[in-house]
Amino acid sequence: MSKTLLKVSNLAKSFGSATALRDISFDVTAGEVVCIIGPSGCGKSTLLRCINHLTVPDSGFVEVAGDYIGREPKPGGKVRMQSHGEIDRKRPKMGFVFQQFNLWPHLSVLENIVKGPIKVQKRPRAEAEAQALTLLQRFGLRDKANMFPSSLSGGQKQRVAIARALAMGPELMLFDEPTSALDPEIVKDVLVFLRELADSGMTMVIVTHEIGFARHVADRVVFLDRGVVAESGPSNDVLSNPSNPRLREFLSQITSDQPTPRGASSSVAEPHIH
Ligand code: ADP
Ligand code: MG
Repeated sequence: MSKTLLKVSNLAKSFGSATALRDISFDVTAGEVVCIIGPSGCGKSTLLRCINHLTVPDSGFVEVAGDYIGREPKPGGKVRMQSHGEIDRKRPKMGFVFQQFNLWPHLSVLENIVKGPIKVQKRPRAEAEAQALTLLQRFGLRDKANMFPSSLSGGQKQRVAIARALAMGPELMLFDEPTSALDPEIVKDVLVFLRELADSGMTMVIVTHEIGFARHVADRVVFLDRGVVAESGPSNDVLSNPSNPRLREFLSQITSDQPTPRGASSSVAEPHIH
């Protein structure tokens, strides 16, 4: 039996009078890859940021492996807000990879990766460095350890950002449009890399416009529209046979990817790139 690793219940968030998330609920099972798609401004980034509490939701709950993050329900419909310290200790359960990588420019690649394990998790430097070098080796970046982010390509920066998140030993990884800031020729490398990470069993929630990638790599797709989950299900069903008219319109706008019949897309040799 697979266990629910991430449970998002009735999450809502407004900015002033603008409602970004109206009422969002979905679960992610351990080992699952879920892609979140939807038009610009529909709340995808806000959702990811609310999941790891970088943005504080107005209502709703987030649980990782049964442990509430940020807001915790109490008897009588009350809610306890966890302290910053508590949230900081829980947040490393989720690795967050930003669209713009957000590496620390004044730190070397190695220091970017060991900072969290040493400062937040209080692990010994030697152990953190050994782990960082193993990750860099695995990601083909061992020779970049002492370089600064500014001397790396976009794809290399993205891999360092992923290594930095993995160094904290997360139970799941959240990616916000991991390829949208990359030059087209390296998008494919990063997608292949993400698929390898998925194949290694990592639980992943990925906001993406790469529909071919979602079709081949995601177990499930969640379509957000106007602050709610407008459609969700197995990726091939949702992408090949969408029932929601706004999803149909969205797919026709962002991709020329032709729907394949159900069960026909067994080849995953290369993600499709658009
Ligand atoms: P997406 O990632 O799907 O493009 P976002 O989550 O970034 O969408 O934004 C959803 C809505 O919330 C948009 O209308 C956006 O303008 C608004 N929004 C997001 N962050 C903020 C913020 N910090 N302050 C005010 N409005 C915001
Ligand atoms: Mg966004």
